[in-house]
Amino acid sequence: MTITEEKQQEINDALDELAHMIGDFRERLVAAGEFLIAYGSPADIYSDPADLTAVQFFPAQFALGLLGHWSVESGDERDQPPAGFAEHLTWCEICPFFEDIVQMIEEFGADNEDGGQPCEHCHHKLLWHQLFATEKYRARIDCKRGWERVEPEPTPVSGIPGQLGEAHEGRWFALLNDGTFAVVTCTFYQSRSSGTYQLWRDDEYTVCTDPSLPGDTEIVSGGMKFSVGAGPANTYDAALRWTGPTAQIWQTYAPAVGEALLVPETDQ
Ligand SMILES: [Zn+2]
Ligand SMILES: [Zn+2]
Repeated sequence: MTITEEKQQEINDALDELAHMIGDFRERLVAAGEFLIAYGSPADIYSDPADLTAVQFFPAQFALGLLGHWSVESGDERDQPPAGFAEHLTWCEICPFFEDIVQMIEEFGADNEDGGQPCEHCHHKLLWHQLFATEKYRARIDCKRGWERVEPEPTPVSGIPGQLGEAHEGRWFALLNDGTFAVVTCTFYQSRSSGTYQLWRDDEYTVCTDPSLPGDTEIVSGGMKFSVGAGPANTYDAALRWTGPTAQIWQTYAPAVGEALLVPETDQ
């Protein structure tokens, strides 16, 4: 597997987070499991045995140590686990969790491209599911629900007709039940006429195949403009404080742009 520089940076950041994550055992399991789903096992990532060993023998009180423990015990080898691993699984509280995930990855297919099946409920890849640990520390998944921000912070925007001062946008996504994504980009900006300030929220509703690249992977889109207050206002704060779209907003303003439904919030 070839890893691009950008991907490597992303993996390093994720590893760094795991290497510092201490605290509740279940949370650490889930964080390490999410890493396994997103990037693969340590042996897939490290070709240098010294690097692999450093990860494998990381202290177990950190999330990375749990992944390392499983990597060592299982031999990080899908086809031929070491003798005794089956017995180890009968009492270990860590390894069965990761074995469950390995099973899921096989069922879904690495990228849903090589014969794997997307989820029969939401039609999305394993990556887009919520991972959790059961009472007995087994791995389970749930179709991911609700709206999530794409970027942690509002980003500046310019060139809006009538725009006065700075404008900022926030972007949210949710899963649609045909395997595509709903993305709502909300741009906050001000205008002034006859000395009166007006704060606007300009929504763009997009159906796309990759929520991180809605423009490039757009299937269809549409928009709506709302007057959301008087000014003068700080558009960065407005975009930061805005709680984001809701199922009702999507259903009211976006049906014209997409026929798929949002993955339900309470029912798989
Ligand atoms: Zn174990
Ligand atoms: Zn699902």
